[in-house]
Amino acid sequence: MDDKLMLMIPGPTPVPEKVLSAMAKHPIGHRSGDFSKIQAEIVENLKWLHQTQNDVLILAASGTGAMEAGIINFLSAGDRVLVGCNGKFGDRWAEVCDAYGVNAERITAEWGQPLGPEQFRERLERDREKQIKAVIITHSETSAGVINDLETINRHVKAHGEALIIVDTVTSLGATNVPVDEWGLDVVGSGSQKGYMMPPGLGFVSVSAKAWEAYKTAKLPRYYLDLGKYRKSAAKDTTPFTPAINLFFALQTALQMMKAEGLETIFARHHRQSRATRSAIAALGLPLFTTDECSSPAITAVAPDRVDAEQIRSVMRKRFDIALAGGQDHLKGKIFRIGHLGFVADRDILSAIAALEATLQ
Ligand code: PLP
Repeated sequence: MDDKLMLMIPGPTPVPEKVLSAMAKHPIGHRSGDFSKIQAEIVENLKWLHQTQNDVLILAASGTGAMEAGIINFLSAGDRVLVGCNGKFGDRWAEVCDAYGVNAERITAEWGQPLGPEQFRERLERDREKQIKAVIITHSETSAGVINDLETINRHVKAHGEALIIVDTVTSLGATNVPVDEWGLDVVGSGSQKGYMMPPGLGFVSVSAKAWEAYKTAKLPRYYLDLGKYRKSAAKDTTPFTPAINLFFALQTALQMMKAEGLETIFARHHRQSRATRSAIAALGLPLFTTDECSSPAITAVAPDRVDAEQIRSVMRKRFDIALAGGQDHLKGKIFRIGHLGFVADRDILSAIAALEATLQ
């Protein structure tokens, strides 16, 4: 019964019919005036979503492509950076750095715990020579359902003065407040299959003036993900390579829907659904994997003690056509995760909780 499948995973998320229909068209030429008009509207709305006047560039890539672009355009081999690691995606940042010879010093926390802002403060204060070129963190750590305190960590980065702040907002953008200009976030990466209410396939990177300065001297090899090319083309409302045209149609519609709903309402919906899910899980007697203070508004991670997490997922899938996410890496079999990200209605949360209650009986 896959057409009835309810996706309650932290991406890909359900996609509104309006967005799906927008895609179901013949492509148009990407060097046409019609395409440029669509791109201009999209870019304006992406800036609205990011709360920024910075460039927001669109890549035919998943979120990881946006992350990789966020490293290779602004850093050089041997550069020293701090990477926050408290889950799979923080680890991935460090792996991308390792792959390119960027010297990544990991600031770690247990999976399920938030990164400690004090550790960043202490390390940055010790860097009197200003060797640290960037602080790289994951805002919403999807693998553990944790939101990191980006605002405070970023304040320590600003006090350092030199380092760029590079952020993965893949499961926070469009779910909670990420005021790029107000906080002065230099490089912000995201992907279409999350808060954007779209299918996978597009990556987004916003880039500050300070990051563009670093771009001028950054020496890592880049070609397809050279953001300078995207910036140059975007100035003419076009793209350097053939874009994922039908995904642009979808993005145009998705952003219009988001604008109609309004940022505050979108954030309030995610926070409300997170609180509702957590209260229901507690009422069902299942242990939550994170505390209220650090829980991501997009994902609720549950660590059942008396019942097998995979067994719960399997029954939810087979009996109720509801897909929940499992644990990743060492948390496999230990936790399951409920995604309430993007196009999720309160009714969906109620259905998932009712099904979970029946599953546990
Ligand atoms: N970062 C975070 C926080 C994510 O949740 C994900 C995917 O779930 C990624 C990065 C990687 O994105 P993708 O799978 O689109 O490459």
